[in-house]
Amino acid sequence: MRGICCAAAGLELEDMNMDVNPRQDFMGFSWGKWSERNPIPNEYSSWGVFYKLRDQVLADVKSLCEAKANEIDQLDPSTCEGQIARFWKAAMDEEGVESAGISSLLPLFEKIDAATDLSSYIEAIAYLHTQGIPVLFEASVLSDFKDSETERLFFGQGGLGLPDRDYYTEEEKASKVAAYEKHIATMWALLNFENDADAVAATIVAIERRIAQVSRTRTAMRDLPSLYNKQTSEEMTNATFPWVAAFSGYGIELPEFTISMTPEIFDFLATDINESTFEDYKLYAKWHTLKSLASYLPAAFVNEEFNLSKELSGAKELAARWKRVVNTLNDTCGELMGAVYCASYFPPESKAAMVELVSYLKEALAESLSELTWMTSETKEKSMVKLNSFMTKIGYPDKWTDFSSLELNGSYVDVVLAMRRFMFGENIASRVNQKVQKHRWEMPPQMVNAYYNPMLNEIVFPAAILQNPSFSLERDMAMNFGAIGAVIGHEMTHGFDDQGRLFDAQGNMSEWWTPEDSEAFNERAKVVVEQYNKYTVLGRSVNGQMTLGENIADIGGVKIAFKALKLYLERNGRPELIDGYTPEQRFFLSWGQFWASSARDEQALKLLSVDVHSPGFLRSFAPLKNLPEFYQAFGIEEGDAMYLPQEERAAIW
Ligand SMILES: [Zn+2]
Repeated sequence: MRGICCAAAGLELEDMNMDVNPRQDFMGFSWGKWSERNPIPNEYSSWGVFYKLRDQVLADVKSLCEAKANEIDQLDPSTCEGQIARFWKAAMDEEGVESAGISSLLPLFEKIDAATDLSSYIEAIAYLHTQGIPVLFEASVLSDFKDSETERLFFGQGGLGLPDRDYYTEEEKASKVAAYEKHIATMWALLNFENDADAVAATIVAIERRIAQVSRTRTAMRDLPSLYNKQTSEEMTNATFPWVAAFSGYGIELPEFTISMTPEIFDFLATDINESTFEDYKLYAKWHTLKSLASYLPAAFVNEEFNLSKELSGAKELAARWKRVVNTLNDTCGELMGAVYCASYFPPESKAAMVELVSYLKEALAESLSELTWMTSETKEKSMVKLNSFMTKIGYPDKWTDFSSLELNGSYVDVVLAMRRFMFGENIASRVNQKVQKHRWEMPPQMVNAYYNPMLNEIVFPAAILQNPSFSLERDMAMNFGAIGAVIGHEMTHGFDDQGRLFDAQGNMSEWWTPEDSEAFNERAKVVVEQYNKYTVLGRSVNGQMTLGENIADIGGVKIAFKALKLYLERNGRPELIDGYTPEQRFFLSWGQFWASSARDEQALKLLSVDVHSPGFLRSFAPLKNLPEFYQAFGIEEGDAMYLPQEERAAIW
């Protein structure tokens, strides 16, 4: 067992570059030697301290899967252990995968072929959604923005094979679209169907181009009020888009209302799918079925799939089969592994220490809120209520999902499809118009990540992120506050970022800020947008508007965590210098090193289009330039490269 107690702890001194002055280049100083000591592995398109931890957790999960697979005969197939064993056996059986071929896809293709008009086509598409195949549009169940106790079905745009609509609309990305088209043709040829693969590929790309034209940008998709469009059952029954057929495909009764996040896409589809395009749309649906399942098919498909990802992200080598398989487990049915993982890798002391850290962070945020000069006391009071009603989840869910009815038989692709159908039932079919089940988690415990959910007003920290280098009981607390502490602060701040602030303490979207407070907030947010717009990656600007929420959370998170550290030191005493640094300096160095990372050019450009976070390297120092506390810790003054004039600094929380 590799627990927290055995983890290496403290600053990575060898990663620092002592020849660099922190006042001029904090990134270079805090982790300037990291990249040369940690080249990006061939199978990855980016690499970093965070990614290394993820890689380690994959290996941990693998060893658990192997142990269960070795005991398969003794394990009850209706238990999580028994299902993990069956999943692993099927997934690692390469011969079985080769001999199964594409046979499991054929019934899905038949469903598509059976469609005769728009209605039956949409019914088939909805059926594909029940198999976890993302195609044409997306359906998800979320808390109602305006009635957070109840979950509703939300529909929105989707159906593109490339990472973003920008790929189809920007001249600069034309070569990626060409590579995608070639990829479709190659994959299609592997099916050995009669139609001309090149023509099929051109048809599919043409459809996706049209969908992209009517799709909203990622920045537009962050405007939550514009996404909340109720449609009643009567409106759905009378719409040109055949909603009733979709619900028949889902096997769900038509609810009294649903939310259409992007109504224009459904209007578009209702006219674009017509007699002259009908057969084209069938090809399109088959392609997305193949695309969604290619990873579980014979090697020829997997290798060609990797060829495209090489083009899009720059990875040089296909990852080992076991890594891909563990990722599939985590992404498809991750909670199946949750209890097994926590029993081996999540010591109870970690949970206790996290509870304490969170309480420090809450206290610090409360103090910050009360000190704000730009917010009226009326909104402050309500913000305090929101902060006090934050729900905190640490490690793993109090109540696990019941997987006992999940039956896993057949080849790898059959097993994955069975898991996806189960999850459709769990996440969608059983939840429409039901009361929110607050014990649910959106991430499995073995995920190295964290999240804030504005509708439940909750912050969630899976077990896997609660270990070195984000958190360790074996190192001084300044380093913990600078890493996991700032992550906690980051998630809390999301409750008050450009999106989170729209939701009140109960998780309902309402006007609970006074207009003057909203205006003051927007003024301050504008400074953040402009500040980040100035940063560039490979000559392209960071999208300050798209990354606004994350940047606010980074700046606020570090600031709050620093305040929390000060509270901690007041109560527990200041340690001596460690490695020659004060606790304040170690706090910022810990943050810097936490974001040590690099990305291949292709991946860096891709993330610039699709990631709502700023690039990792930027996160290691850009938020700090807004904090007087940082200036003080390293003696940064006007004229230093890390210095920002007062009027350019963001000061929200
Ligand atoms: Zn975030």
